[in-house]
Amino acid sequence: MVIVGGGPGGYEAALTAARHGAATVLIEERGLGGAAVLTDVVPSKTLIATADVLDQVAGSPQLGIRDADTGAAPTGQTLDVDLAAVNRRVKDLAAAQSADIRASLTEAGVELVDGRGRLDGPDRVEVLDAAGERLGQHEADVILLAVGARPRELESAPCDGERILNWTQLYELDRLPEHLIVVGSGVTGAEFASAYRALGSEVTLVSSRQKVLPGTDADAADVLEGAFARRGVTVRSRSRAETARRTDDGVVVTLTSGEEITGSHVLMALGGIPWTADLGLWTAGVRVRDSGHIETDRVSRTSVRGIYAAGDCTGVYPLASVAAMQGRIAMHHALGDAVSPLISTQVSSAIFTSPEIAVVGVSEEDVLSGEAAGEVLVLGLDTNPRAKMQGITEGFVKLIVRPGSHTVIGAVVVAPRASELILPYTLAVAHRLTAEQVAGTFTVYPSLTGSLAEVARRQVLDSQE
Ligand SMILES: Cc1cc2nc3c(=O)[nH]c(=O)nc-3n(C[C@H](O)[C@H](O)[C@H](O)COP(=O)(O)OP(=O)(O)OC[C@H]3O[C@@H](n4cnc5c(N)ncnc54)[C@H](O)[C@@H]3O)c2cc1C
Repeated sequence: MVIVGGGPGGYEAALTAARHGAATVLIEERGLGGAAVLTDVVPSKTLIATADVLDQVAGSPQLGIRDADTGAAPTGQTLDVDLAAVNRRVKDLAAAQSADIRASLTEAGVELVDGRGRLDGPDRVEVLDAAGERLGQHEADVILLAVGARPRELESAPCDGERILNWTQLYELDRLPEHLIVVGSGVTGAEFASAYRALGSEVTLVSSRQKVLPGTDADAADVLEGAFARRGVTVRSRSRAETARRTDDGVVVTLTSGEEITGSHVLMALGGIPWTADLGLWTAGVRVRDSGHIETDRVSRTSVRGIYAAGDCTGVYPLASVAAMQGRIAMHHALGDAVSPLISTQVSSAIFTSPEIAVVGVSEEDVLSGEAAGEVLVLGLDTNPRAKMQGITEGFVKLIVRPGSHTVIGAVVVAPRASELILPYTLAVAHRLTAEQVAGTFTVYPSLTGSLAEVARRQVLDSQE
């Protein structure tokens, strides 16, 4: 097995293949763990861990907490953030995680190769150095391409790593931006807008859409917009950034309307471009879509027998968890094991804003558009006793069940730690539990999970009326 790319798609596949006894080579150009570990998931969630603490401080006055010296109610701004220390921690943690992955791969017997992999026909991968010189080649019975994606940039707003930044460059900052303009209100833009506001920056979010988080549950996006408004994040909706340029002491972002927004820094969060252009795909005849994503089926096969692809380069779901699952599925399929294909309606994911938003399965939009048949019920967290005790004032749970059978087919949780709270619903979707079964399951009293069962009870009652 020859695997190109050492992110979650590639390294999970390599571990699976090697542990099943296959001779496995993993070629990685930049660092094991991939973008997920080195620049994307691990760094952003580590930064957000610091932001979360400040958010809790900001919410603590209503719990009776006062500054010991002044007696004043603490706010997020009462505390100072040493961004250099935060970013040191981020980079140390990413490096440690990458080293852990290297150790696991070595222990499993994977041969690790530093360099750039490129297809040289359907059953051979050549390895190049940074200058494009050929270092060697590997014959393969099976090839997995898991090369990920890189940040999309605007030609008219080239990132310089100092003032005009993509998300991989944020961790070089040693001082908090005074005013961060975030261009792009998808998941990445929303997460960084939320985090930097909590850290103490003034934040303006430039969104080309009417609502932030396009494609996400509309009620969840409303809650987040409310939270942004309350916490002082300025959202410029229906605004498209045309250019960004540096000034002596900051940046100016010009919108297509001609209006200018000035700030100290700008973060371009415009999504990713698959890293497939120079992968030699044509030498093997691997089909790609216009977007550059490699075409795959639900068991990660490409158009060429023996070549599989996983992760962000396939454009299936830009999630580390999905990349890992696609990589494992590819290896099991290649090894001839019985394999369950990737079921998109079972994927759960989270947006790590404040509050967090987690979703699984069919969405309410799918139901409204007629794409799926479902009954939708929403329960606010305002009636949940634990939420009251903890001073949680926003959030809800939403359950979507199949009419008649009441099988759980989708859910949304908006709450602190929604990323953890979604699991019971993910289990329900994956194992086709009914609302009755969820309703009849013990929950701890008092707990936020109480609302997960309560909304199911109400769903059952509603359907009996
Ligand atoms: C800011 C941000 C936050 C995110 N947070 C989350 C999150 O919380 N949860 C989540 O599930 N997902 C999250 N994601 C998405 C997640 O990062 C990706 O889905 C995940 O990294 C995809 O894994 P991958 O293996 O496909 O690619 P990657 O992690 O990008 O790894 C691909 C690897 O391939 C290497 N490579 C590329 N070309 C070659 C070549 N020719 N030869 C050798 N090596 C090559 C690259 O150097 C890279 O190391 C986030 C994304 C961003 C941008």
